[in-house]
Amino acid sequence: TAHRPFNFSAGPATLPEPVLRQVAAEMLDWGGSGMSVMEMSHRGKEFISIAEAAERDLRELLSVPPHFRVLFMQGGGLGENAIVPMNLSRGGKVDVVVTGSWSRKSAAEARRYADVHVAAEGNGREIPRDWRLRDDAAYVHVCTNETIDGVEFHDLPLVDNGVPLVIDCSSHMLSRPIDWSRVGLAFGGAQKNIGPAGLTLVFVREDLLGHAMSICPSAFNYETVAAAQSMYNTPPTFAIYVAGLVFQWAKAFEYAGKQGLAAIEQRNIDKAALLYQALDGASLYENRVQANCRSRMNVPFYLKDERLNDAFLTEAKAAGLLQLKGHKTVGGMRASIYNAMPLEGVQALVAFLKDFEARHG
Ligand code: PMP
Repeated sequence: TAHRPFNFSAGPATLPEPVLRQVAAEMLDWGGSGMSVMEMSHRGKEFISIAEAAERDLRELLSVPPHFRVLFMQGGGLGENAIVPMNLSRGGKVDVVVTGSWSRKSAAEARRYADVHVAAEGNGREIPRDWRLRDDAAYVHVCTNETIDGVEFHDLPLVDNGVPLVIDCSSHMLSRPIDWSRVGLAFGGAQKNIGPAGLTLVFVREDLLGHAMSICPSAFNYETVAAAQSMYNTPPTFAIYVAGLVFQWAKAFEYAGKQGLAAIEQRNIDKAALLYQALDGASLYENRVQANCRSRMNVPFYLKDERLNDAFLTEAKAAGLLQLKGHKTVGGMRASIYNAMPLEGVQALVAFLKDFEARHG
């Protein structure tokens, strides 16, 4: 049967096709309301029901404990790099573990608001050891999946000095469970596993609310946003609606005898194993990340002969494999294989890798 090309973009990224079809079908008239979701008041009963269902389903999928608030915000991951320190640092100390490009950016932005200390720094291919954490820090920041470098924490770090852990989980949120007992705050942009760009998800432990610096804009004050059920200002309504459909899709998702997040995680494990195996077994390609922290979501790789890069991308596109170009800061290639990427997409990529090597290797 005909299918759309497989889209390996790092984000905005491929979405489940049934969700896109439902969005198309409901575009002019949502649920007999006579309105597109884009045209509804965020305070009307229709949209409130959409937003409440989205939060309920998300909480269920990720087993979010009741003492965490779920906030639907705007500003993206880079916005949160400022919003988190304005809400949590009290102008004091912030420790950051640098594992790649995104955590490095988080450290730089937090310096505008707080005394930032890089507790450990990796080379973008590993998770550094020997963290020098400060007991009087307001929080410790880590990026649990480095989208550019392809470095993922497969277990959340245990910060046992009582300092809250803040995680930027933008690019692997909803791909696996989160151990909430280790987390104070988690944030991420929606445009990878969740839905359209413009929506930012924040999960914040209740005891961390209420400490915002006076310079913090009200619309970015977690306590204000939480008190208004994410409706202090107009939230990104259409993006919340699409995210809600993705959550419904995820809850019903079945794979390998499992359902919901467990099924999604299992398929992600299988897809990543297939792709890394193909890269490791080839002589034309290499992934440089240490085996224990290779990302299930973002798989950067290099052609050993970089003169073949253009031919690789042109031929991949012709084969129906889109957006494989690596991030401009690191070059090479990158296959992002988020939740919505089917196993068949990775199989097609692996077949293409072999075919390309046979012809050019
Ligand atoms: N953190 C991570 C891990 C990301 O992958 C990204 C975007 N790729 C960002 C932060 C920045 O997000 P945004 O562009 O939504 O500000």
